[in-house]
Amino acid sequence: MSSRSASSTLRLPSIDSLLRHPACQPLAERYGRDALLSSLRQLLEDLRAQVVSGQIDAIEIAPEVLAGRAGERLATPHRSHIRRVFNLTGTVLHTNLGRALLPEEAIDAVLIAARYPLNLEFDLHSGKRGDRDDLIEGLIRELTGAEAVTVVNNNAAAVLLTLNSLGARKEGIISRGELIEIGGAFRIPDIMARAGVKLHEVGTTNRTHARDYEAAIGPRSGLLMRVHASNYSIQGFTTSVPTAQLAALAHKHGLPLLEDLGSGSLLDLTGRGLPAGPTVHQALIDGADIVTFSGDKLLGGPQAGLIVGRKELIAKIKKNPLKRALRVDKLTLAALEAVLSLYRDPDRLAERLPALRLLTRPQADILAQAERLQPSLAQVLGDGWSVSAVPALGMIGSGSQPVARLPSAALCLRPQASKRLRGRCLLNLEAGLRALPIPVLGRIDDDAVWLDLRQLDDEPAWLAQLDQLQEEGAPG
Ligand SMILES: *Cc1c(COP(=O)(O)O)cnc(C)c1O
Repeated sequence: MSSRSASSTLRLPSIDSLLRHPACQPLAERYGRDALLSSLRQLLEDLRAQVVSGQIDAIEIAPEVLAGRAGERLATPHRSHIRRVFNLTGTVLHTNLGRALLPEEAIDAVLIAARYPLNLEFDLHSGKRGDRDDLIEGLIRELTGAEAVTVVNNNAAAVLLTLNSLGARKEGIISRGELIEIGGAFRIPDIMARAGVKLHEVGTTNRTHARDYEAAIGPRSGLLMRVHASNYSIQGFTTSVPTAQLAALAHKHGLPLLEDLGSGSLLDLTGRGLPAGPTVHQALIDGADIVTFSGDKLLGGPQAGLIVGRKELIAKIKKNPLKRALRVDKLTLAALEAVLSLYRDPDRLAERLPALRLLTRPQADILAQAERLQPSLAQVLGDGWSVSAVPALGMIGSGSQPVARLPSAALCLRPQASKRLRGRCLLNLEAGLRALPIPVLGRIDDDAVWLDLRQLDDEPAWLAQLDQLQEEGAPG
């Protein structure tokens, strides 16, 4: 055990003797014995770890000093581990930063669902037991043309559940060009295996033809699958079979076609300056029997996985015991219903849905903001840095349109130091920005720190903490 070697070099009093020590008595009275105990334990553990890692030399620390440090820790109010941050990375739907921001309507709905009992699985009309999917089924039918829906924890769960429900112990036929890996260990071949579906890959990485699928179909086939290439693109000499053709082929052989859209959008967003992508509605029109997509990607809602499509297949999916393990919770459903409701009024959607508002924010607007903020930041950073307001390219994120870039604008912070010192300067500044009360996250590229301002809504809060950057000594 590493702590043994540490404690042999670091002479620390025992917890018991510390607790009895007069220096600790006032702390026990003020914060309670339990809080003091865990604070002392944590303190001793940290000290041991610091010796092991060589951060401090082995030393002997007096009980009075330890009591003082424990007192300081107890006096510091607990800071939540979940922290608000400024996402100035340029990636709007950033998976590591929580993806879509919810609209006010959804936040209100979440508060109500959190605070009061609700008809989650209770039919107010008949007074009988209800089904949580029914709460949004009407909206989904209206918005996508699907016959039925079921909602689970996320799209990975949606794919797993659908594959297991429709293809267990049979073969799932999929193009080699669609055997994707998405961040966080979601790989189609592995998910298929876990779902009990035998992978039958067809075609090649860049070209798969209808005849490849046709040749693979046989008595063991369970379903055909299409996966939207979320985080890469295959260009050049390529062929893939369009959904409509694949659906026709599947149906000719009595098989269902499952389409995993990933970031399926409910609307065609090309009219709003965003790149063309598949819509859920179109995939269903083209003949996909089941379509799965995420709630918190382009849809702009909470984390969820939506499974929509043919009624009898949805019924089969809902009967799978796994559904119970993957089901969505009430807070998510409340938010999802509120977000879906906004889609009934597409003309006002961009004003009301933060994801869409941010994604469609005009570049001129962002550049004007960068120019407005440039002097404040230049002043804070001083002579060591050149600060300029420049056009930049951002991304939608979450595997929506991986190769498309969003024309944006940024504050570009360039260290004036010699080339040898530049890397350190950049990392220091980045760390300083992260250490602010509301951490500011940018990106380092081309020997500069870039703060893409597309998502900087709360300018006053951002400006108010800037002078603390100086105190961090970050630019040093
Ligand atoms: C993002 C994505 C998933 C996983 O969705 P989560 O909601 O993150 O679980 C699955 N398939 C595709 C094609 C995706 O783009």
